[in-house]
Amino acid sequence: MEVKHAVGPYPSRRANGYITIVDLVGPPKACPYNCVYCPIKGVGAKAISIKRLVNPDKVLKDFEQLMDNVGGGVRAVLINGMGDPLLNEFFPEIVNSLAKTLKIRKLDAELWIKTTLQTYAVVNKRLNLTNIDRAYVVFDAGSSEDYAAVNEPHHGLKLSTLINYLKNLNEGERVIAELSLVSSGELPLNWSQESLELIAISYSKAGVRKAVVKAIDRPPRLNGIRPAPEAVLRRVAESLTEQGIEPLLLLEKPQFHYSEVVVPSTTDLYSLLLRKPMTITELRRSFRIPYSDLWRAIESLMNRGIVEEVVWRGKVFYRGITS
Ligand code: SF4
Repeated sequence: MEVKHAVGPYPSRRANGYITIVDLVGPPKACPYNCVYCPIKGVGAKAISIKRLVNPDKVLKDFEQLMDNVGGGVRAVLINGMGDPLLNEFFPEIVNSLAKTLKIRKLDAELWIKTTLQTYAVVNKRLNLTNIDRAYVVFDAGSSEDYAAVNEPHHGLKLSTLINYLKNLNEGERVIAELSLVSSGELPLNWSQESLELIAISYSKAGVRKAVVKAIDRPPRLNGIRPAPEAVLRRVAESLTEQGIEPLLLLEKPQFHYSEVVVPSTTDLYSLLLRKPMTITELRRSFRIPYSDLWRAIESLMNRGIVEEVVWRGKVFYRGITS
């Protein structure tokens, strides 16, 4: 089936509203990391070389089509998907074109990226944030042991490279560290007292001023990976505040419907579920079409073997898989 590179609307905790997602990478997934909590099915290639991945024309065509359908109700366009967008050599020109398109359409949605940053850090290539409102940087660990355990980085990648790069980038409030606190079974993977102290030290060294603190809310690629308790998130937010770092605590998902009715094709639905597993309630809130129409579309994708049902923490999610 064809895969679209712009999908949504998607309920976002960080936006407290709906966003669209633009994917410059996959399928297949390609990322310098293979985080234990990654919601994308399959191992994927751990990659750090910048290459020509998804073509700008295809991204722009899909984005224009999507924005025709979703209208102006999205708070942000998040460049993220099946891996790290900085792996795509076309990243700078795609960002410029997306910013231009938003301007031409007079949409006030912000442009965000989510990245490991390691792709640019290893070759010391400066990230140009001219058209980017926020850059979320995956930063889950303060020691190489926790880094290896949570992010499973590409061979040879070091946490210190990321810290030094962030320090030199010195982009202030537009660069936001993203901390996902996870457990393996009942055991903390990166939120023991010692881990949290080391994370705070690393953030200070890197000059981080703001950090998203969150627990995972979608089925991870590995069984047994769980979100940290909410009390831990609150404790971490308090201790970051004491260090002079502004925490953005993500707890609640949007419980309201998207502002407009969006009728997705089965290709749109599949392309969205490939990037983010979602529950039927979330899909109903995103599209506002009858449950019966959603069931029919999901069933047809499941019959083709490209969407699977995943039960996680008492909820049923639908996840796209590559055939
Ligand atoms: S969660 Fe993000 S950074 Fe981690 S492996 Fe998946 S795509 Fe890469």
